[in-house]
Amino acid sequence: MMMTLEKYSFGLGDRFTHQGRAQLAAVIKANEQGAKVTPVWNKSNREHGIVGTEPASVRGEADSAVAALGWDGSYYVDADHIGLKIVEPFIEPSDFFTLDVADFIGKAASAEDIAAFVDKCNRYLGAVSVEGIEGGFDVTKEMVEQIAGKYLLAIREAGKIYRYLASAKGEDNFITEVSMDETDQPQTPIEMLFILAAIADEGLPIQTIAPKFTGRFNKGVDYVGDVEQFTREFEQDLAVINYAVKQFGLAENLKLSIHSGSDKFAIYGPMNRAIKKFGAGLHVKTAGTTWLEELIGLALAGDEGLGIAERVYRQALTRCDELCGPYATVIDIDEGRLPSADDVAGWSGEEFADALRHDQACESYNRSFRQLLHVGYKIAAEMGAEFTDALDSYEQIIARNVTENIYERHIKPIFLD
Ligand SMILES: [Zn+2]
Repeated sequence: MMMTLEKYSFGLGDRFTHQGRAQLAAVIKANEQGAKVTPVWNKSNREHGIVGTEPASVRGEADSAVAALGWDGSYYVDADHIGLKIVEPFIEPSDFFTLDVADFIGKAASAEDIAAFVDKCNRYLGAVSVEGIEGGFDVTKEMVEQIAGKYLLAIREAGKIYRYLASAKGEDNFITEVSMDETDQPQTPIEMLFILAAIADEGLPIQTIAPKFTGRFNKGVDYVGDVEQFTREFEQDLAVINYAVKQFGLAENLKLSIHSGSDKFAIYGPMNRAIKKFGAGLHVKTAGTTWLEELIGLALAGDEGLGIAERVYRQALTRCDELCGPYATVIDIDEGRLPSADDVAGWSGEEFADALRHDQACESYNRSFRQLLHVGYKIAAEMGAEFTDALDSYEQIIARNVTENIYERHIKPIFLD
């Protein structure tokens, strides 16, 4: 039987593999409150590279958290954003694979392949009525050709990765996601419809799909964009998925995966209402903001902990360009708003925490400070045992912040409220 992802799932990220239990505690709390949420630990190749960890460490973190807290529900380990070139070390420890084919979007498949696909879509030309979308879609052959020209090769590539994984792990032993979020242009709901048609044509048993939405999803800070337009696109995608499951025979539990970059508070409410309206499932991935809660906990611990937090900032400030480089398209730092390292050295633990914690109602909250520290985990990684020993020494106060952040600011507004 195929491994089947539950209706609601939540992707947790953890740079230093120290907060497995604190993260799982948030999921347990959600379940106690009536939201059946399944935890998925994810960590991308980019993060492994910067921190110097191996994919197997995420499996170790998940297994030991589950054992320690006696979690008896399902849980998964997601090889986030992989392609054929980097997948090898992820194969054994992962059971959820996010096939990233963004690099192939916009590159055309062969003319014969496109023509054959467009032919198969013949019965979806003209007026297509989709439950939940007022007026439905008016589809022309040119539209299908254009969508195929842009996306078909990417889907063929996803097929290659999937078949490689299926031969290595056995096709029933993992969950498949296709991600297209790390690209320039958002996908429209009508593109989504024919992307799903191509995925079905490729025989890809995906359970989640991650489109790019309108607006900016910067790492660790709130959504920037037109919330109404986002809500419309999100609801239309849900309607398209329902339609595609019935029409194309895709997996019954197929659902959207939102690569949130964490903390998209402005759209959590609309997402919550939309999934309930459509009876839809949802997977939400967060980025590694758990690491920022570690810094908050260290700062609040004072003394040595606060010293480490301040030193991370001082170094991050001098290495801003280097740290921001890999994240250039997903951060937006106003350098004029960054406090000087000497100012920060004079702050109390509370002042440091207030500037960093994502509480937009707090006057001291500084989104530039937060974003720089978010990409500054490389500095902490370089501190090595000094940093991870501090995580152990101040475990209690850090864990409290990690759990509260995930439960109160994320899981609750998305799945419960
Ligand atoms: Zn992503």
